[in-house]
Amino acid sequence: MGKTLIIGAGGVGTVVAHKVAQNPDVFTEVMIASRTKAKCDKVVEAIGNPNIKTAQVDADNVDELVALFNEFKPDIVINVALPYQDLTIMEACLKTGVNYLDTANYEPKDVAHFEYSWQWAYKKRFEDAGLTAILGCGFDPGVSGIYTAYAAKHHFDEIQYLDIVDCNAGNHHKAFATNFNPEINIREITQNGRYYENGQWVTTKPLEIHKLLTYPNIGPKDSYLLYHEELESLVKNYPTIKRARFWMTFGQEYLTHLRVIQNIGMARIDEVEYNGVKIVPLQFLKAVLPNPQDLGENYDGETSIGCRIRGLKDGKERTYYIYNNCSHHAAYLETGMQGVSYTTGVPAMIGAMMFLKGLWKKPGVFNVEEFDPDPFMEQLNKQGLPWHEVFDGDLEL
Ligand code: NDP
Repeated sequence: MGKTLIIGAGGVGTVVAHKVAQNPDVFTEVMIASRTKAKCDKVVEAIGNPNIKTAQVDADNVDELVALFNEFKPDIVINVALPYQDLTIMEACLKTGVNYLDTANYEPKDVAHFEYSWQWAYKKRFEDAGLTAILGCGFDPGVSGIYTAYAAKHHFDEIQYLDIVDCNAGNHHKAFATNFNPEINIREITQNGRYYENGQWVTTKPLEIHKLLTYPNIGPKDSYLLYHEELESLVKNYPTIKRARFWMTFGQEYLTHLRVIQNIGMARIDEVEYNGVKIVPLQFLKAVLPNPQDLGENYDGETSIGCRIRGLKDGKERTYYIYNNCSHHAAYLETGMQGVSYTTGVPAMIGAMMFLKGLWKKPGVFNVEEFDPDPFMEQLNKQGLPWHEVFDGDLEL
């Protein structure tokens, strides 16, 4: 059905490549390109399909991207490099007539700041070019928005309270490691918390608000209120929402390490001079921390991510909880990667599949909840991320 270019060969890129290879009727020609070509070659070797092409590209460089797109002529690019590359890749898509999908919103390197404005600003240009850009198609953002769209379509007349709950109850048996790119992960967690209430954003100190929440098959876990990018698009696309929050679990050991990292200045994202060389402490820290791609082998336990929703149906209040639990070990056996990469990579593949099948195809720049959730939800069940629903239970929130 279509030619697909995957950019990024990290944990998520590896899962995308495996899942794309499992669906050859949709993804008829595939290339993986990244900064380090050897990593792309390793992924292809692990998949065992020599038809998948590989290439080197610096995705910060629009001209290099344009040359690669003109050579391979993809129908869609799945951007699973880092959020810093979103705009250069979108620019290159516009210059070459290629459609676009990513899993994380653009962030400038020098400030940890998450908002869609930079990418939404491309809407008119994608519309005029007749191209589709699908933003935030991982799990959260991604499936969290699709669950919300599904709830709005089938179970609610009015969604009023939305809590996205993200639990990782896995154990990788390392003293400290992050589950995806450490630089991006630590930037996200150390910023102020933020949630939406009655038309306004309320800011909290980092990890200031926390609560015990009970996760299916896992039990109670301390869950911390964070700002997460999908809140911005969801409150815009569902204006009946009175309050929207995002919660993520962290263990005490993780938080202690994080506090030390911050206190000693290793979470800094500004440049410091060391021995005549300029380095960014957080980027240096990334180089010495375990690589998230290598965590899979000894990772046990599971993730549980879902949406807890309260609202009205036929004039009556109702609650609804929709979630997926994903086993780290099962993800590893299938793709060589742990559950966090798996839960991100599978939806990215499905989003590209939706585009190539013509189901999610319209000119412009869209967040996932702006498309029909039904065919996507069907594929989640088929592609390894089955979902479960609880009606009128206690949401704890
Ligand atoms: P990794 O750090 O493991 O992989 C990133 C990949 O991008 C690496 O292969 C890296 O190359 C490549 N890359 C980085 N910079 C460039 C560049 N300038 N040009 C070309 N390639 C580049 O990250 P993850 O796989 O863990 O995460 C990938 C993305 O997924 C991130 O944007 C992350 O925010 C997002 N994510 C989204 C989630 C969701 O649910 N929505 C959850 C988890 C992650 P090299 O190896 O050479 O450095």
